[in-house]
Amino acid sequence: MQFVSTRGRAPALSFSDAVLAGLASDGGLYVPVSWPRISPDEIAGYANRPYAEVAFDIIRRFAGADIDEATLGDIVEGAYKGFRHASVAPLVEIAPGHFVLELFHGPTLAFKDVAMQFLARTMDHVLARRGTRATIVGATSGDTGSAAIEAFRGRETTDIFILHPRGRTSEVQRKQMTTVLDDNVHNIALEGDFDDCQDIVKAMFRNAPFRDGVKLSGVNSINWGRIVAQIVYYFTAAAALGSPHRQVIFSVPTGNFGDIFAGYCALRMGLPIRQLVIATNSNDILNRALRTGRYERAGVMPTISPSMDIQVSSNFERLLFEATGRDAGLVNQMMDSLGQSGGFTIPNQALKLIASQFDSASASEAVTARTMQGVFAASGYLLDPHTAVGVAAGSPLAGGREPLVTLATAHPAKFPDAVREATGIEPGLPAWLADLMHRPERMSVLPADAGEVEAFIKARTRVMEDRT
Ligand SMILES: *Cc1c(COP(=O)(O)O)cnc(C)c1O
Repeated sequence: MQFVSTRGRAPALSFSDAVLAGLASDGGLYVPVSWPRISPDEIAGYANRPYAEVAFDIIRRFAGADIDEATLGDIVEGAYKGFRHASVAPLVEIAPGHFVLELFHGPTLAFKDVAMQFLARTMDHVLARRGTRATIVGATSGDTGSAAIEAFRGRETTDIFILHPRGRTSEVQRKQMTTVLDDNVHNIALEGDFDDCQDIVKAMFRNAPFRDGVKLSGVNSINWGRIVAQIVYYFTAAAALGSPHRQVIFSVPTGNFGDIFAGYCALRMGLPIRQLVIATNSNDILNRALRTGRYERAGVMPTISPSMDIQVSSNFERLLFEATGRDAGLVNQMMDSLGQSGGFTIPNQALKLIASQFDSASASEAVTARTMQGVFAASGYLLDPHTAVGVAAGSPLAGGREPLVTLATAHPAKFPDAVREATGIEPGLPAWLADLMHRPERMSVLPADAGEVEAFIKARTRVMEDRT
C-alpha cells in the first residue's frame, strides 16, 4: 500500500518510508491511498481472538508486501506480550450499556504504549534491514516521552533524546523516563517550559544540515505507524460487543486527534460505528470547530488532564482531507490560513459530513472531577482525569440502543493528585511498578537553547560514530 500526503505535493511513500518520515516533506500528513475493507464476517471472527492476531490481520492490510508477514507477526507478538492484562485491552462495564476500554496495561500505564510498542519495533526492523541508524527526538509534557523511551530502550538502531520541561512534569512521569538507564536513552531536562521544548525540537527538524547529519526521526502522534496500531482496539472492542450485528458508539478523550482519527479509520474500513464522540477538556478547539465551523487557535489552559492541553490538533488535518473528498488544495488553504491568521473556516459540505459521523462535548474542570467522584461512588471504579473527560462527554448517549465505549487512556495512578482530590482515594501503582519512586535516575539539565541541545545530541548519537 502507498501513502499520500494531505497537502498533495510530496511523493507517495511505502509503509516503511511513511513510518520513518513521520511528517511529509510538504508539511502534510500521510494517509493510505485507499481504505482497505474488513468484511462483516472478518469482524465477527475477531471476537475472542488474541489481540496480537487481530493486530496482525488489520495492520498487514497497510504494511502489505513491505514488511513480510512472518516479521509483522513477530513485531505485534513482541509489542503486546509485555502488557499486564491477558486480553491487552479489556472492557469494563461502569454503568448499564457504558463500557470503558482499558488501554493502560502497557509498561507506562497510558494508551500511548499500544502504538509506541508497535512503532519502535517496526522502525527497528526497517532500519536494521537497511543497515542504518536513526536519532529519535521528541518533546514531552509526560506521557509521550515515557512511552517512547520505554519502547526504544536498548535498541541497536536508534538513540532517543527526549526533552521535558525541568520540574514541570509529575513525579511519576519524570521517574518513568529518567529511571530508564539504557545507553541509547537520553533524558534532557530543559530549563524552560513545554513550549520551549517543542520549539527546540521543531528548530532541530528545520535545521537541514543537523537533521540530515544525525538522521533525525520523530515519533509524535502524526506518525502513521502510531495511528495504524490504534485502529486495532476499535475492532476488538466492537467485536466483543457484538459487531458487525450491532453498532457501537465510542467516546474518545482527545488532544492531538490521533486516537479518535484511528476510530475514523476503523469506520472507513467497515466497522459499524454509530458515532465518534470527540471529548475535550476546557481546551476545546475541536468542540468549538464542530459547533461553529470555525477552527480557531486559542491559548492553552492548564487542566487536570494535561495530556489533552493542546492549542491545535495536528491530526485533524487528516479528517479535513477526507471530509473535503481529498482536496489537497483546500487543505493547503486552510493550513495556510491557520499559520497566517490563527484560524480557518471548515467548508460547509465538509462540516456536514463530519457532523454526520462525529459528536463533540467539552468537560470543564469541575465536571471532570464530579465525573471521577460520581463513577467511583456508583461503581467503585477509579477513572483517571483524561478518561473522566471521555466518560462525561459520552454519558448523555449511554443506556440507549447501542453500547457506548469510552476509551480509558491512562491508569488512575498516573495522575494521583487529581484522583485523590476528586474521590478521596489514593490510587496505587501496580505492584510491578511499586518501587518506581526509589529507582535511580539519570538526566542531563540543559539551557533552553537549540544550539546547546544539538551539540549534546551530536556528541552522543551513534549515527555520528557510523560516519567517522
Ligand atoms: C495523549 C493522550 C491523550 C490524547 O490523545 P490524542 O491522540 O492526542 O488525541 C488522551 N489521554 C492521555 C492519557 C494521553 O496520554
